[in-house]
Amino acid sequence: MPTKNKTKLKGGEFILKESLSDEIFTPEDFSEEQLMMKDTIIDFMDREIWPDKMKYEEKNYDLTVQAMKKIGELGLLGVSLEEKYGGMGMDFVSTMLAVDYVSGVSGSVATAYGAHTGIAILPIYLFGNEDQKQKYLPKLTSGEWFGSYCLTEPTAGSDANSGKTKAELSDDGKHYKINGQKMWISNAGFADLFIVFARIEDDKNITGFIVPNNPLNGITLGDEENKLGIHASSTRQVFFNETKVPIENMLAERGDGFKIAMNALNVGRIKLGVACLEAQRRVISNAVQYANERVQFSKPIAHFGAIKEKIARMATSCYVGESANYRAAHDIELKIRSLRQDGLDHQKAELKGVEEFAIECSMIKVGTSEDIQNCADDGIQIFGGMGFSADTPMESAWRDARIGRIYEGTNEINRMLSVGMLFKKSMRGDLDLMKAVMDVTSKISSEKSDENIDPDQILFLERQIIKNLKKIFLLISGYAFQKYGQELDKNQQVLIGLSNIMIEVYFSESAILRTIKNNKKGADMKYQIDMTSIYVFEATEIVIKSSKELIANISTGDEQLNLMKRVDRLCSYDQIPDIISLKNRVADRVIAENQYCF
Ligand SMILES: Cc1cc2nc3c(=O)[nH]c(=O)nc-3n(C[C@H](O)[C@H](O)[C@H](O)COP(=O)(O)OP(=O)(O)OC[C@H]3O[C@@H](n4cnc5c(N)ncnc54)[C@H](O)[C@@H]3O)c2cc1C
Repeated sequence: MPTKNKTKLKGGEFILKESLSDEIFTPEDFSEEQLMMKDTIIDFMDREIWPDKMKYEEKNYDLTVQAMKKIGELGLLGVSLEEKYGGMGMDFVSTMLAVDYVSGVSGSVATAYGAHTGIAILPIYLFGNEDQKQKYLPKLTSGEWFGSYCLTEPTAGSDANSGKTKAELSDDGKHYKINGQKMWISNAGFADLFIVFARIEDDKNITGFIVPNNPLNGITLGDEENKLGIHASSTRQVFFNETKVPIENMLAERGDGFKIAMNALNVGRIKLGVACLEAQRRVISNAVQYANERVQFSKPIAHFGAIKEKIARMATSCYVGESANYRAAHDIELKIRSLRQDGLDHQKAELKGVEEFAIECSMIKVGTSEDIQNCADDGIQIFGGMGFSADTPMESAWRDARIGRIYEGTNEINRMLSVGMLFKKSMRGDLDLMKAVMDVTSKISSEKSDENIDPDQILFLERQIIKNLKKIFLLISGYAFQKYGQELDKNQQVLIGLSNIMIEVYFSESAILRTIKNNKKGADMKYQIDMTSIYVFEATEIVIKSSKELIANISTGDEQLNLMKRVDRLCSYDQIPDIISLKNRVADRVIAENQYCF
């Protein structure tokens, strides 16, 4: 245990089995068409958005609308949608790539783009009927109309199904009257259409509606919220007062709203993850350029080890984040393709494809949103006092990054969800978690060396460590089940600790597989090998800390002592890599290139 994978893994199965490097997709596998799209977007963002970066910080909401219109002219508001709805009909990886590169310059544009193309358009595309799709999607993909997603309410945030907004059927049965208050609604200030979730009578679950914006139909907006970041992203309350919505504007069936909301969020989460990457690349490039120019003690500060440490850390987390995001994106794409071959239409296949990898979507949202925050924080530190100035781009990057940990489900909720979904899959019999747990718990003595790992291949130690970290996850899950049984989901710190381990395993393994795959193709992966070693070493430290906290909670006496020893054994390197030298090497490369270059 974990066993070698012979067929494509299911969502969440990476924690039970070994993935193969030839089976994963890496950013180095982008097609010619995808690379062209990437270059076009970077060029567009540099030309059209970057020069106005500071104006976005002055809460210039119109600038965001103009940016969205221009992005629409490039065709980027409906990358994955079928052409008959004004989309480009491209695959899931291409959609992720578009989100990645559109989102790097300003968190305001990233949020507007994410809210419109993700959570506003997708409920119609994935759950709407043909009439609804024909009527609304072409307007939304061309940028003639913009959309908002109205789920959150003053008393219903994380507990999204508890909203008080009501939808009441009119006496003639022709329309619903919506009454209620929605809060924190992105794009509200310029939205032409709202996706609104409301409860009919005392239904257990909410229902989704397409509601065109019309102030004469009882729709009013609160003032713009005063926010820490994403200053030019419009965020307002939306009030519905006897708002009439024709019955044909209901999305899917009565009571399907929570399902729609959660499915839209699955897609939203992985897209939020990828939306953090170009922001990270730009922060790194800006920081290294500053470090190369800023002279202190008669040298550019880039020469100092303390600065190199940060540059290496920033580049490493970006490289690893890219590896995880595009690995999951392609897994989803493959699942969509196979479901289509089984006869499902595009929408159903996309829904089920993303749902299959909902665990990965949650983990990626958490991991990448925290990486951009740390990266921007290091960026500020490299800029010193100037980093604290609103006149340099680090300050806004740091403020903009903060929202990523809150919306699309807070990181606490997503951490618990990821592990909760894994356990649910196991209970349903979709994953054989229990067998894997039993294998690991019964083999107390067989540790460390694994004859299945080829010692001649690169990253030997790291591959061995990752196998062991998976064992630790399974081992602790087993003891946690034993102690808490059905009550496990009420022990949030245990779930969060387990999710920390799972996230570190997924991100580490993604970097390992990306590096091995490209190394096999003959590419020079010297620095990528260094970054992977750095990441795995630091991930292991996180796993050790989480594991020990968990073990102390779920066991006592000799059992606890044995488990602690086992974790130490599983996490020990035969030879500890010289992390400081690796970091210097990676940083020197980035400093020489004067930008993020991997
Ligand atoms: C700038 C911005 C834009 C937004 N855009 C939109 C939008 O377009 N559409 C929309 O519908 N919503 C939007 N939101 C709302 C956002 O999704 C919510 O803020 C988020 O889901 C958290 O809900 P809340 O703010 O009510 O926090 P709460 O749910 O009150 O959470 C507060 C804290 O308690 C924790 N917590 C809550 N429940 C639990 C639990 N069961 N277990 C453990 N911890 C828990 C949370 O993790 C958090 O740390 C936006 C928010 C912001 C700030």
